[in-house]
Amino acid sequence: MAAYDFERLIVDIPDYPEPGVVFKDITPLLADSEGFAAVVDAIADHFKDAGITKVIGAEARGFMVGAPVARRLDAGFVPARKPGKLPRETVSESYALEYGTDALEVHADALSSDDVVLLVDDLVATGGTAVAQAHLVERFGARLAGMGFLMELAFLDPRSAIAEASDVEVFSLVKVG
Ligand code: IMP
Repeated sequence: MAAYDFERLIVDIPDYPEPGVVFKDITPLLADSEGFAAVVDAIADHFKDAGITKVIGAEARGFMVGAPVARRLDAGFVPARKPGKLPRETVSESYALEYGTDALEVHADALSSDDVVLLVDDLVATGGTAVAQAHLVERFGARLAGMGFLMELAFLDPRSAIAEASDVEVFSLVKVG
């Protein structure tokens, strides 16, 4: 079967959210029923034999791709949220973005040491968001089994940053650069 052409449904937005950044807008892909299903199925199929019990995804686009992947894998979903959004006790990790810095939090009972975790996001750029989530998973003693991305900005070399934190498998559907 020919590879699905995800790229035709991803729109480049130059100088957003600041000059020099080319933002990859995935909303046309999410809005396309066939394209959305192809993204979710491709990531889930890749990790279907990995014994995934939980998918972790970061606010906000990590929710959009991660939650349906979790459902396809019969796994639970753990939202990693911006500071102050979760109502109960949390664990927190700060991280560097392609543009700026922030922190991610999950509830303190979100994972257990028995969990086998897949990290899912729409896009990996510097890898900072993914590494912060890898550290969160580590703090629970859970096993991070893989990372699945719709898009990888390969020219920013996120795999090197991720490899420094974890020897986890990284899978991406579209590589840019
Ligand atoms: P990183 O931490 O530098 O790898 O940036 C990845 C995070 O920033 C992901 O959660 C993405 O959703 C978001 N992000 C960074 N650049 C873009 C973009 O061009 N389009 C969509 N999301 C982006």
